[in-house]
Amino acid sequence: MTTPPFETVPGTDALLLNGKVVAQQIRESLREQVVQLRQQGVQPCLAVMLVGDDPASHTYVRTKARACESVGIRSIVHHYPASVSQVELEAQIDAWNADPTVHGVLIQHPVPPPLDESALLRRLSPQKDVDGITPASLGALLTGEEAFGACTPLGIITLLDAYRIPIEGKHAVVVGRSLILGKPTALMLLNRHATVTVCHSRTRDLSFHTRQADILVAAVGKPEFITGEMIKPGAVVIDAGYNRVEGRMGDVGDVHFDSAARVASAITPVPGGVGPMTVAMLLQNTLRAARNALESPTASRN
Ligand code: NAP
Repeated sequence: MTTPPFETVPGTDALLLNGKVVAQQIRESLREQVVQLRQQGVQPCLAVMLVGDDPASHTYVRTKARACESVGIRSIVHHYPASVSQVELEAQIDAWNADPTVHGVLIQHPVPPPLDESALLRRLSPQKDVDGITPASLGALLTGEEAFGACTPLGIITLLDAYRIPIEGKHAVVVGRSLILGKPTALMLLNRHATVTVCHSRTRDLSFHTRQADILVAAVGKPEFITGEMIKPGAVVIDAGYNRVEGRMGDVGDVHFDSAARVASAITPVPGGVGPMTVAMLLQNTLRAARNALESPTASRN
């Protein structure tokens, strides 16, 4: 990947970690790879399961389907009412697991209760878990086995790599310990030899910990929760948050951008930071699944 342009946040010395630009570079490379795969007779395909009427989920699914289209990946979206039965959803997962023309499957979170989202994830073949969040894929992060990385954590690591920000030996502090974001991010940083601290809602004196961070990852889900005074001068700040705030235009991260940018050496914006990287990683994982299927056709059907 070519190094993205180095631009600073206006009025500060902080490097802007531009996820939009890096994601675009990745997509251009993926588009070329899709052409090559098609020449070998494989049309990469992502199947999406969307249940219920959550407006945010519908927007996310539309964005992902459009992103697939932009690089030549075929996408199929199956939309079910919240009244659908667990049995019907599981039958669909089984059908996609067995379908050699479907390479990746995404179960859009959240699946509304009383439907059992965890049971659906457990049923999904790890070879098709391009979102990287089934128990098998998360377990592989612990054991170091080959699996698809969870898209947002993988996007964070890829963004750091794109800007040549060293991880090894650094003290990384992750605020948040969710299964889809905080925990896998902490494990990926650990696998890259960072010293990792994980903070959560019961952490005492959060600022004490965040001020130790060379790399600070905010994955809390609270608008502008991390402020400049909680950040060590020169730290790299990654804001994975994405929050809608009543009465404000646009989306807001978990970091108070203006105060953080005055202290940080590098920082992601919201929007345009981690979000576009997440989508790019979904496309990248889908392409990898398609390539795996070409190289080992029977394994992809398990
Ligand atoms: P989540 O499941 O609600 O987890 C939030 C985490 O923050 C929990 O571990 C919680 O601790 C911790 N937390 C809450 N209050 C805290 C406090 N006062 N001090 C320290 N830690 C606290 O949320 P999530 O799914 O991980 O998402 C987090 C954010 O990332 C959201 O804004 C979401 O929209 C965004 N997100 C973005 C993307 C993307 O593509 N950019 C993808 C996924 C999520 P406990 O475990 O103790 O409750």
